[in-house]
Amino acid sequence: MNIVAKKPPLTIRLCQPRGFCAGVDRAIQIVVLALKKYGAPVYVRHEIVHNRYVVEGLQNLGAVFIEELHEIPADHRHCPVVFSAHGVPKSVPADADQRNLFYLDATCPLVSKVHKQAMRHSRLGRHVLLIGHAGHPEVIGTMGQLPPGAVTLVETEADAQTIEVSDPSALGFVTQTTLSVEDTAGIIRALENRFPQMQAAAAESICYATTNRQEAVKQSAAGVDLFLVVGAPNSSNSRRLVEVAERAGAKRSLLVQRALEIPWDTIDDLRVVGLSAGASAPEILVDEIVDAFRDRYDVRVEIAATAEETENFPVMRALRDVDLTPADMAFVNGSR
Ligand code: SF4
Repeated sequence: MNIVAKKPPLTIRLCQPRGFCAGVDRAIQIVVLALKKYGAPVYVRHEIVHNRYVVEGLQNLGAVFIEELHEIPADHRHCPVVFSAHGVPKSVPADADQRNLFYLDATCPLVSKVHKQAMRHSRLGRHVLLIGHAGHPEVIGTMGQLPPGAVTLVETEADAQTIEVSDPSALGFVTQTTLSVEDTAGIIRALENRFPQMQAAAAESICYATTNRQEAVKQSAAGVDLFLVVGAPNSSNSRRLVEVAERAGAKRSLLVQRALEIPWDTIDDLRVVGLSAGASAPEILVDEIVDAFRDRYDVRVEIAATAEETENFPVMRALRDVDLTPADMAFVNGSR
């Protein structure tokens, strides 16, 4: 008689919303549509979004990733070059113009909004305080909207307690879009205590997708034995989700890029797993992780929905004459 071992029961609490935001979706669509319209190669400056799987998928379609524009060979200057969703300093489009390149700017409209808010502060005579992480491409892009010295980066509450400014009565702040809502509130409080005349941006800089994904994780993490966030180590918003899960009561919280990174040998006695994905992580990888659990457990998926997202950012006019089919995006969305 064949005795099949019964799999142990497991509930996966699947956060909703999770994964791709409207800005990431748009940036990927821009590369896919440019490849359809102009053919390969399409150059992309910096990882279009912080996800290796997405980058490799686009490379397979004919995209070529570069870090700087001078890497484009002289005989390929007619090929389009796409700027990433994180935004670029003003010097980048200026450099592209000088080199006579044809560029498509995939900067998320919500990042462009932060750029405008920083420029507005400056136009009104305010020194800009940018709350964000040094070295992140979005921070480099936002700082690069203004001349050197016009923006001071504030990374932590300790920075907020110690930064020196020349005129405390003429300050304005903006933030990176993908920060921890809670940490940022603490930094802003510390700055406001020191500089009561500091002006906020006209609208919230942390974007809807960051806020919604953090809230969904916060609501679902209590009582979870293991919380997995699908995302890349260099994805700011994904790393924040891991921190939020820990703070909200998950016993253990991990960032994984693919199912093969799940440390099965250190996992035992699982009853409830929380699962979310950063804004740059494709749904096809969430499916892969659920399937990996199904191989080992008798899985019941419970949707933990906290918000419905309807945001959709259209691509630029130059690409609107090209049809985008579900098959074009299947490499990230799977068959949905
Ligand atoms: S995380 Fe927010 S700011 Fe960044 S691309 Fe997505 S919607 Fe835009």
